[in-house]
Amino acid sequence: MTDVIVVGGGVIGLTAAIRLLERGHTVTVWSADDPLDTVSAVAAAAWYPTRIDENPQVATWAAATYREFRRQLEAGVPGLLLRPTRNLLREPIRELPWWAGAVDGVQLRDGSHPYAQELHFLAPLAEMDVYLGWLAGRVEEAGGRFERRRVRTLADAEADVVVNATGLAARELAGDPAVHPARGHIVLVENPGISGAVRDSAGGTYVHPRSRDVVLGGTFEVGRGDFAPDPAEAAAIVERCVALVPELAGAKVLGERIGLRPSRHGGPRVEACGKIIHAYGHGGAGMTLSWGCADEIADLAG
Ligand SMILES: Cc1cc2nc3c(=O)[nH]c(=O)nc-3n(C[C@H](O)[C@H](O)[C@H](O)COP(=O)(O)OP(=O)(O)OC[C@H]3O[C@@H](n4cnc5c(N)ncnc54)[C@H](O)[C@@H]3O)c2cc1C
Repeated sequence: MTDVIVVGGGVIGLTAAIRLLERGHTVTVWSADDPLDTVSAVAAAAWYPTRIDENPQVATWAAATYREFRRQLEAGVPGLLLRPTRNLLREPIRELPWWAGAVDGVQLRDGSHPYAQELHFLAPLAEMDVYLGWLAGRVEEAGGRFERRRVRTLADAEADVVVNATGLAARELAGDPAVHPARGHIVLVENPGISGAVRDSAGGTYVHPRSRDVVLGGTFEVGRGDFAPDPAEAAAIVERCVALVPELAGAKVLGERIGLRPSRHGGPRVEACGKIIHAYGHGGAGMTLSWGCADEIADLAG
């Protein structure tokens, strides 16, 4: 039985820990922060490979994660919703996008001005305050241990296998200058009774209804790593979202969140390097790729 320490208790670390436990490893998760204080907890957490370039590995992870969410939805896992989603396209396309193969029944329809076309599909969405708690509970039920602990270097973790799922901190911990923040800002409003999600991916605007509120997004500022509040930015997000979904006009603002996506030039890194398995750099798609990456991490652990 292999002894594994997973450094990182966000969505990447927790899903990896679950898959490793399912394969019979002894697993301890070390996390500097409570899961609810991670970037993962800020995510709108809709299944969609935001700003992730196509490659066969990413396509495999996205498809495996989509299937796993559909399975978990059937099983009634808490915090998961399935939303009819309209992806608005300004320019017409002839072929479906690369990620469409991961999703059952993507339909391309005519759009209405200023949009040329719309992609319609069903997208899983996680309410991360609930779902991360469920993931942490699954780790413990499967015999894993969770410890609040911050490493100075990955060498602090003495185990047969160490999974580096430290998100943005991997820039220092793995000495990887390709890792950088991409600041994201979302606004939460009362749900006026909508259940369909809408995205204008080119404009970076999205509306994700949840059970208790609606997530309005967003921003994606590559290289910006601060949490400074920005009321003008929040107002602009609301305005763009109301333009997409007029029912949102006047919806009471419940709060806002700012998070730093752990982006990486060249895409996510999931790779074994001696006894360390690196698993970071998921940018705006950590939830979308999580279970597929977790499968790969478990394969790499042997
Ligand atoms: C506004 C916003 C909206 C988003 N929307 C979506 C979306 O709709 N869909 C989607 O798929 N993704 C979305 N994302 C992206 C998603 O949140 C990230 O890709 C994902 O959370 C990354 O997960 P992670 O586990 O790698 O990192 P994190 O959640 O940042 O977790 C990193 C973990 O490492 C730990 N750690 C760091 N340093 C140390 C150390 N020295 N010692 C010990 N532990 C350490 C931290 O405590 C934490 O537990 C969004 C992000 C933002 C900000």
